[in-house]
Amino acid sequence: MLDSCGREVRAMRLAVTEACDLRCRYCMPAGEPPRALAPLSRDELAAIAAAAAQCGINKIRLTGGEPLIRLDIVSICEAIGAIPGIRSLCLTTNGTRLAGLAKPLRQAGVARVNLSLDSLRAPRYAQLTRGGNLADVTAGLRAALEAGFERVKINCVLIGGVNDDEIADFVALTLAMPADVRFIELMPMGECLRWPKERFVSADKVLDTCPELAPTDTEGVARRYRLPGAKGAVGLIQPMSHAFCGDCDRIRVTADGMLKPCLHSGAELNLRGLTGRALVDRIAEGIGAKPPAHHLLDAGSETERRMNRIGG
Ligand code: SAM
Ligand code: SF4
Repeated sequence: MLDSCGREVRAMRLAVTEACDLRCRYCMPAGEPPRALAPLSRDELAAIAAAAAQCGINKIRLTGGEPLIRLDIVSICEAIGAIPGIRSLCLTTNGTRLAGLAKPLRQAGVARVNLSLDSLRAPRYAQLTRGGNLADVTAGLRAALEAGFERVKINCVLIGGVNDDEIADFVALTLAMPADVRFIELMPMGECLRWPKERFVSADKVLDTCPELAPTDTEGVARRYRLPGAKGAVGLIQPMSHAFCGDCDRIRVTADGMLKPCLHSGAELNLRGLTGRALVDRIAEGIGAKPPAHHLLDAGSETERRMNRIGG
């Protein structure tokens, strides 16, 4: 389905929880977050995915919060993977529980996995995530590579003065590993809204650090590069320095059932409690309501939700 700017909207990010077992400093505050509304049930999630398919959505990415903390995550994937019209079921995870779940998720129909990892150094990883264990994530990455997903990608949020000295180490992973490494620019929202400006660095720094990277193509919102002879590609996702709103093809649904036409807009449409035609019509309304562009650089993010409450 086309939105009012003529963009074909094909993808939905569906948050299955806003809870998480980590506390990444740019995403969530320390300690227990305030009690949230109950997340959508497996059947509500499947009904939303089926209605979205009727609106032309063919790609669903499950996210959160941390999707793998839901005990019924495999069953959710089976239900959504079986919906006619959903051609690609993907998942974004912090990887802490992926070692035990990679195979069942693959068998349940998940085609692609994105794993978020902002440091390859255990003490720094623990500091950034407030307690995460790097070994759990590397075990999850290995399991994902062995489970036979169509694609595995590592997403690294660049934080100036914090992890930008690891750019070359992340890029070097692609030499032997059949996985893409993607550098994502930190966006000023939620926890990092008032961080000093040195933390927000352009992902162009990756090209300055590794000039041997050769451009190959674009994939969705990522510009891709490759080291000579490397098994994996390097992607740059640059919402700050190279806004890509003109190519945006996605809508989002929060864990409490609110459709967000744009990540950075405050507009939300309630899906909870709707069924049948009413649900399809509301999703179509949400697609039609996509704004032409975000105003991150001038006015800042207009959403009051933190990333874990949207589904990044
Ligand atoms: N917990 C899962 C994970 O970490 O992959 C899924 C949800 S998390 C909110 C999704 C992605 O959003 C992660 O890759 C995270 O690094 C990214 N993210 C969160 N806050 C961000 C921010 N302010 N700027 C850029 N990316 C952000
Ligand atoms: Fe959790 Fe993902 Fe947010 Fe980190 S980025 S706190 S793993 S939801």
